[in-house]
Amino acid sequence: MSSVCSTVKMTDKNGDLNFLNQTATQWRDIPQNPITYAPKSETIMLSGGLTILQDQLIQSALQSLGENYISMPNPNFESFQKGKAYGNRGQCNPTYFTVGNLVKYLQNLRDEKGLSAEEIVQKYVYITAGGCGPCRFGMYITEYKKALRDSGFDGFRITSFEHDKGIFQGDDIDDEILNFTPKFFITLIKSVIIGDMINILGYKMRPYEVETGTVDKAIETCRALVSNAFLEKKSLIKTMWICRQTLESVKLNRLQPKAKVMVMGEFWAAMTEGDGNYNLHRFLEAEGAECIPQPIINRLMLSLWEAERAVIKRESLHVEGAKRVDFSSVKTRAFIKLGKVAMKTHFHLYAKAIGLHNYEIPDMDKLAQISQEYYTLDCEGGEGHLEVAHLIESVKENIAHLVISVKPFGCMPSSAVSDGIQSLVTNRFPEANFLAIETSGEGAANFYSRVQMALFKAKQLAKEEFEALTLPEKIPEKIHNYLYQPHNEKAGTSAQLIASL
Ligand code: SF4
Repeated sequence: MSSVCSTVKMTDKNGDLNFLNQTATQWRDIPQNPITYAPKSETIMLSGGLTILQDQLIQSALQSLGENYISMPNPNFESFQKGKAYGNRGQCNPTYFTVGNLVKYLQNLRDEKGLSAEEIVQKYVYITAGGCGPCRFGMYITEYKKALRDSGFDGFRITSFEHDKGIFQGDDIDDEILNFTPKFFITLIKSVIIGDMINILGYKMRPYEVETGTVDKAIETCRALVSNAFLEKKSLIKTMWICRQTLESVKLNRLQPKAKVMVMGEFWAAMTEGDGNYNLHRFLEAEGAECIPQPIINRLMLSLWEAERAVIKRESLHVEGAKRVDFSSVKTRAFIKLGKVAMKTHFHLYAKAIGLHNYEIPDMDKLAQISQEYYTLDCEGGEGHLEVAHLIESVKENIAHLVISVKPFGCMPSSAVSDGIQSLVTNRFPEANFLAIETSGEGAANFYSRVQMALFKAKQLAKEEFEALTLPEKIPEKIHNYLYQPHNEKAGTSAQLIASL
């Protein structure tokens, strides 16, 4: 090793370049020394990585079931740097952010809270979604284990639930740690759905608030109300009704023509609210746009749709000597149906109570049908055909003035779709205002500048759409109430409101 190289070391153990002189050894997924883990009653579960509100609601929801559960803070740039320092090279961006976030959290427990690394390894466990890929998703758990070993937490437990199996997890789940019962599953789903709704309403209202900060304040009140309802086992429907009154008290001026921007792309990059996508949603709002976020329920519906399709395909295979009726697939189908009904029912009940009238859970069959000409439905990596479907749907139904696809640096499925297939889609739908943009964790200036350029055109479109309408002499007050949500062929909120009169 040259003397220059030997100075290139990070402050912690990682970055030690002595490996250059060593013989390569086989990677082992097991801790080097035996560890006696704490019993379930003393084990603390960690997770996180959804929107900030959803992480907080999930914490209250699971604590209400008696689980010793903590949602970690949102990943930030420091998390990303730790992920890069301890992770393998060439990973996709969400891997670095989420893996680094866990390392950062544990290091904080050790260095700030004074817990020893042994104590942390024995007592804490991290829960994450897993799957078999086909992208890097299948390697996440190994990445976590490698980074944790190299950062001084060898043997730290990671347990996962298969993202596409829902309640039907099979034998993979670690029952000792995670009680993945129907009650656990439904409570989790409720917190995610309620979080989705409050987030959607926040994005609809914030750009039009008369006094800066009032929507965020109301959303925080709603969060506290819902968290409390979970912990004190109060009626969630009633709580959503109280949230409705809180939101209704916020003064809005909705007659401002603002560009409507659909943010989609790879699940994590499009959904996260922080450095993972350079705070894209807040940046758009600060630039005078209204965002259409991607709710988590969309991803859950896609997972169920993919699981159902896999069962149907398996059933259509002719296997010699197979049973006439395969009860395992009958059971799986029943569970999928049950999962769908449970999600839709809860969604409609809560939506009605909080006043989210114009949001429909996406029809997965319709989205599959409009995209299958461009993207095979059998390819399940990332968002599969959904990115293509969202863009086509947005153009055909005039949903937004701009569609942004956020693709993390190094993402295999999303890059292939955005760089390849979407160029054919935009060729066939030239009216589409589409921007595929990469988030690398670095390079914010370039990112913002490209977003601003696409936004300029979107703002013009929103202005033209609004100015083409004739304003009535008397504008009713209901127009500024968030509960008034007309749906018509216009894209912008202010144009929709005027066109509805
Ligand atoms: S979809 Fe892309 S970003 Fe997400 S895990 Fe797969 S490769 Fe990584």
